[in-house]
Amino acid sequence: MADATKLSVGFVGLGIMGEAMARNLLKSGLFSSVTVWNRTLSKCDALVAEGALSAPTPADVVAACDVTFGMLADPEAALAAVFNEGGVLAGISAGKGYVDMSTVDEATSTKIGEAVTAKGGKFVEGPVSGSKKPAIDGQLVIMGAGDKELYELVQPAFAVMGKKSFYLGATGAAARMKLVVNMVMGSMMGAFCEGMALADKSGLEQTALLEILGLGAMANPMFAMKGPGIMQRAYPPAFPLKHQQKDLRLALALGDALNQPLPVAAAANEAYKTAKALGRGDQDFAAVYEATQK
Ligand code: NAP
Repeated sequence: MADATKLSVGFVGLGIMGEAMARNLLKSGLFSSVTVWNRTLSKCDALVAEGALSAPTPADVVAACDVTFGMLADPEAALAAVFNEGGVLAGISAGKGYVDMSTVDEATSTKIGEAVTAKGGKFVEGPVSGSKKPAIDGQLVIMGAGDKELYELVQPAFAVMGKKSFYLGATGAAARMKLVVNMVMGSMMGAFCEGMALADKSGLEQTALLEILGLGAMANPMFAMKGPGIMQRAYPPAFPLKHQQKDLRLALALGDALNQPLPVAAAANEAYKTAKALGRGDQDFAAVYEATQK
């Protein structure tokens, strides 16, 4: 029998990240039920087979749960899941919580937060750092902002999905932090791929470059993890390139709004756009290497 003191939780958006995060909520046994929805409904099947409930619309998920988490592709998807007919908003009533963990811009997050709050609900934004593997391992870093009470309430869920969560302030702060983090990451990966390309063109072994980078102050898990795939030009998606380009686009818009020059990120964004135009959008963001090979 379900423990009445346990929260019932929902999850909307079962992509690469959402499915793994929802599975960790389910496996934890901490919640009285886990109810899931995905636009392509068949993606609910695996979790249902493992014990989750599924619902036909986001509104039904929210209606059935104390707190619902969202993990959608981009601002358009995050807004659609909330405002479309049968969306999150239609299920919100007083006391219910919605935690949007998608990477979106502040305006999107604020619009969702205001709509949820206007119906008596509570809203937290909780974008994450960490990719497919950390999502599977429950090792994400969660950037939280918005309703502090809801943030505290969902700490057990954040502890299952992540290794650390931060409360950064009013809605918008976590969205901005996440964009800054991914702007740095996208620029780093762009610079790394250019280095790999120049090494190769100038007759150097890319394995030697990887090893030399790995032994100095520039050593980082990302170069070590993505380097071998780049050498094989194989990019199974952990973080889809189209999402990295979206994050650079949103970070540059934030820079524009604040008149903050971002020349390095702007140049990196062009490389991701080129890779997208080469048909690499659904591959891992390391496929930005292909932009160096045209
Ligand atoms: P993904 O695999 O592409 O999944 C995207 C999800 O959004 C799917 O559930 C998709 O549904 C849904 N979706 C897309 N358009 C929609 C719409 N119009 N209405 C409703 N649902 C829609 O992406 P992901 O890698 O899991 O990333 C999800 C979010 O996390 C993104 O904001 C991304 O930037 C962020 N993030 C990703 C990573 C990573 O390494 N992958 C790391 C940190 C943060 P369908 O299945 O029907 O297409």
